[in-house]
Amino acid sequence: AAPNETREFQAEVKQLLEIVIHSLYTDREIFLRELISNAADALEKLRYQKITNKEVLDADLPLEINIELNDQDHTLSITDTGIGMTRDELVENLGTIAHSGSKAFLQHLAEGNKPDVNLIGQFGVGFYSAFMVADKVTVTTRSYRPEAVGCVWSSEGTGTYSIHEEEGLPRGTKITLDLKEDAREFAKPETIKRIIKQYSSFVPFPISVNGEKVNTIQAIWTKNKNEVSEEEYNEFYKFIANAYDEPLMRLHFSVDAPLAINALLFVPKDNFERLGFGRMEPGVNLYCRKVLIQSQSKDILPEWLRFLKGVVDSEELPLNISRETMQDSALMSKLRRVITGRFIKFLSEQAKDNPEKYKEFWQNFSMFIKEGAATDFTHQKDLVKLLRFESSKSEKGQLISLQDYVKRMKEEQRDIYYINGPAREVIEASPYLEAFRDQDMEVIYTHEPVDDYILSQLGEFEGKKLVSIDRADVELPDVNNQNGAVLPEDKVKSLSQWLKQVLGEKVSEVRESKRLSESPAIVLNPDYVSSSIQRMMQVMNK
Ligand code: ADP
Ligand code: MG
Repeated sequence: AAPNETREFQAEVKQLLEIVIHSLYTDREIFLRELISNAADALEKLRYQKITNKEVLDADLPLEINIELNDQDHTLSITDTGIGMTRDELVENLGTIAHSGSKAFLQHLAEGNKPDVNLIGQFGVGFYSAFMVADKVTVTTRSYRPEAVGCVWSSEGTGTYSIHEEEGLPRGTKITLDLKEDAREFAKPETIKRIIKQYSSFVPFPISVNGEKVNTIQAIWTKNKNEVSEEEYNEFYKFIANAYDEPLMRLHFSVDAPLAINALLFVPKDNFERLGFGRMEPGVNLYCRKVLIQSQSKDILPEWLRFLKGVVDSEELPLNISRETMQDSALMSKLRRVITGRFIKFLSEQAKDNPEKYKEFWQNFSMFIKEGAATDFTHQKDLVKLLRFESSKSEKGQLISLQDYVKRMKEEQRDIYYINGPAREVIEASPYLEAFRDQDMEVIYTHEPVDDYILSQLGEFEGKKLVSIDRADVELPDVNNQNGAVLPEDKVKSLSQWLKQVLGEKVSEVRESKRLSESPAIVLNPDYVSSSIQRMMQVMNK
């Protein structure tokens, strides 16, 4: 065997270990969930290899997780018969941090923020969480590849780790923890069984503790809705989303046509992307008859639905579908269309039947719906109905939809009016609203450039033109509200000429306006752009 080699952890790992070892005292028991979830991942990957590849080491080994506790030696080991790791994979996977989210998480902690257990779940201190409870961690592993050589990795979490090769190991990974003096409770079966029940009851492989099987395996997404309790749903969510709180919304459905699909989708409570933790990875796993085909699938849903967590199971999928064919298969796009359509329908039902819930959803996740409305032309028409806005007739904080607007349009009104501004107060102080206020006509307030992008791209809604009221060509149905004296025509003409002379190239035209009642003058845009689109273009040209 090759000699023992000692290596340094990557700087970020050292930093993470420092935090894990010295400042994470609460919720230490999550280490078990992290290790079990890694074992389950490794087993899912092995199962997939067995289906798609011909040759796998120790092909007859059952797929399972065994936990051995020794209360005398104060050790805990967790063994899986999964995919294992080669020497290079050990160095890569357990010596560096790959996820950008984990780096952002680290940054967040380094800035002195208290690590919230839900964040740990999302960005995972993952494998390294073992060092919360152990002063030494040993990983004994052998890859499923027939020619693979077994390896032993060990570390005390202080800057370095060592690796050596070992003969005669079975396929899979065994992780042994020498428990810290103050963590000896984790060698007790009652403690470990309780933690497994709490966090890992949905692991789809048998888990045993000192030889006794402790979990029941169930694919709840294939069950009938009335066979699953609220608690089971929530527990399943926590398992699949690595979350510690409950989901905000849940959609469980099955369809038979045009495709056979069982799906269980969750909207989380928090949007970590909005909170500044970088771009989210997709969170929906793709199954075929309960066999995991692709975890965190990039193909099963459009990108703007990356905030969803859950499972999609379709019998239609060929088990041995390759990652490449998945990307552009007609079947996948059909699945994607059906599931996306169903989810959008669910959201519009929520908006109608459960407005408070929808409002909460909108506060956190509106950016994704807007992204969809701006980019996903297959579903744009339905997504636009999910948009919510403030308006000149909504109370502060109350939001309306385009449909609400159309319903209460004035009889003589033909167009839908909107205006962009950073905040309600700013919009209401501007002269643009004057004429509309005088005529008691509602104007939608938009606060982000993407709103105007969507509305101008859309052009119309339910046959009504969408018009930004800072455009010069806005026509009000009936303008007849001159307050005070009217200037004679020749005076207007010479005033306009003088203004044009003074302003020169800065304006293309100066003309008389009938849309003002209080302000003396107003700056308008050429017909084809609104101010916020112009601002966006300026930013893009920089
Ligand atoms: P994550 O699970 O989010 O990728 P972890 O820190 O938990 O992050 O694990 C890092 C990597 O180490 C995993 O992605 C996987 O490649 C590898 N790994 C960890 N545990 C095992 C295991 N039991 N079997 C095989 N590979 C593992
Ligand atoms: Mg993990």
